[in-house]
Amino acid sequence: MSDTIFSKIIKREIPATILYEDELSLAFRDVNPQAPVHFLVIPKKPIVKLSEATTEDQSLLGHLLLVASKVADQEGLSGFRLVTNNGAEAGQTVFHLHIHVLGGRSLDWPPG
Ligand code: AMP
Repeated sequence: MSDTIFSKIIKREIPATILYEDELSLAFRDVNPQAPVHFLVIPKKPIVKLSEATTEDQSLLGHLLLVASKVADQEGLSGFRLVTNNGAEAGQTVFHLHIHVLGGRSLDWPPG
């Protein structure tokens, strides 16, 4: 997998507002927020998209969900939504797995 903008953020080659980091993951604010709180949770492992994760990644994927919830709590959110766009057809533009976490306003359903 070639370097994406997110691997550059992991390596601190480009700036981001980092909210949380551990050995497996990073959470940072989305540069183009779609809600008052909008951050991304990514694995440091460069998985292209969810459908390319394997059973080997099972505990990592669970970890990302727990990080999302922990940072949402840090951000003062009680209600929030997680989204992962899998593939260009679903709207994925950065090909390094990421979970969007959105909150701070009421969210419509179904999403567009
Ligand atoms: P997706 O369309 O699901 O692949 O989401 C990619 C997200 O990454 C979009 O919401 C972008 O606004 C966000 N994004 C792109 N570049 C950056 C960056 N340098 N820092 C933070 N977020 C970014």
